[in-house]
Amino acid sequence: MEKKDIVSYNYEELAQEVQAFGEKPYRARQIYAWLHERGADSFEEMTNLSKSLRERLSEEYEIARMRIAARQRSEIDSTEKFLFELSDGNLIESVLMRHAYGNSVCVSSQVGCRMGCRFCASTIDGLERNLTPSEILRQIYQIQKLTEERVSHVVVMGTGEPLDNYDNFVKFIHMISDSHGLHISQRNITASTCGIVPGMRRLSEEGFQITLALSLHASNQEKRRQLMPVANRYELGEVLGACDDYFKRTGRRVTFEYSLAAGVNDTEQDARELSELLKGRNCHLNLIPVNPVKERDFKKPDSKKAHEFENKLEKNGINVTIRRERGSDIDGACGQLRRRYAAGKREKQE
Ligand code: SAH
Repeated sequence: MEKKDIVSYNYEELAQEVQAFGEKPYRARQIYAWLHERGADSFEEMTNLSKSLRERLSEEYEIARMRIAARQRSEIDSTEKFLFELSDGNLIESVLMRHAYGNSVCVSSQVGCRMGCRFCASTIDGLERNLTPSEILRQIYQIQKLTEERVSHVVVMGTGEPLDNYDNFVKFIHMISDSHGLHISQRNITASTCGIVPGMRRLSEEGFQITLALSLHASNQEKRRQLMPVANRYELGEVLGACDDYFKRTGRRVTFEYSLAAGVNDTEQDARELSELLKGRNCHLNLIPVNPVKERDFKKPDSKKAHEFENKLEKNGINVTIRRERGSDIDGACGQLRRRYAAGKREKQE
């Protein structure tokens, strides 16, 4: 019999399971705390449970193995990348960023991605599979354990499209912010989407207080379509309409992400069009000089050009920042560490 993935059970679900075992309710609290506050890797660790209960749990449930396969620390800004091997051998990346306001972890939501954005390394080999709630949660738990530091902020901006793994993503948000678990404030959580309109609309109805980030990357439909295949499915106007509704429903200001690629979307006309598009919207614009990806032909603009672009938008009243590049010395762009590691493994096998 396949064992059940206990870390994906939310508190209420776990309480029911424990009750069905004939155990007292406080046992559920203890087990949940082991799994979600202390990041236990095994039932043996749960020393305040009886041996027989631990044995029973391990017969029915599993805490799926998540092995640290590689860890890289940036010499520049102490950003760290973690590569985890999942129980089926798949690899995922997570990033820890240390800020003055606290530690932020960037989690992956899928193994690979099927969105096909032209400049992105994560999508080159397509989608392998969705991550379970436990696999998204445990990226954070493992990093807390490995570093012995507390994580206060989460960004769902690693490999994968969270709204393409909707149910698991939403369960993750509930569980990471639940008072029985790490209790990370939803206001400290940002999730980024390439613009899947039905998912954005559904998300605005969940009653969350998380920040929604939209990967915009172009100021008109035609250009966006060239960079992001998802734009063939959802027109820019529709996507922006869903952002406006998200703000209306949640009161949370939407963040727009715009990766600057030299000669592609960083011209004066782009800046003008982008200003027009965002003018009057209560939003924040994040400019990200594109991370060059070996397999792709995009280059970042020089820093003077990027600042000119920023200034033009600022003059037009847009709330804009250039995202400080973090960990650029450690396979900066999404999915690059995973790709390099997997390629190395293949070479070894050959
Ligand atoms: N699928 C989601 C979240 C993952 S990507 C999304 O599309 O938003 C997180 C952000 O990194 C997105 O804005 C994505 O467009 C951007 N990104 C991907 N590859 C990049 C690269 N090489 N350089 C700069 N930004 C990149």
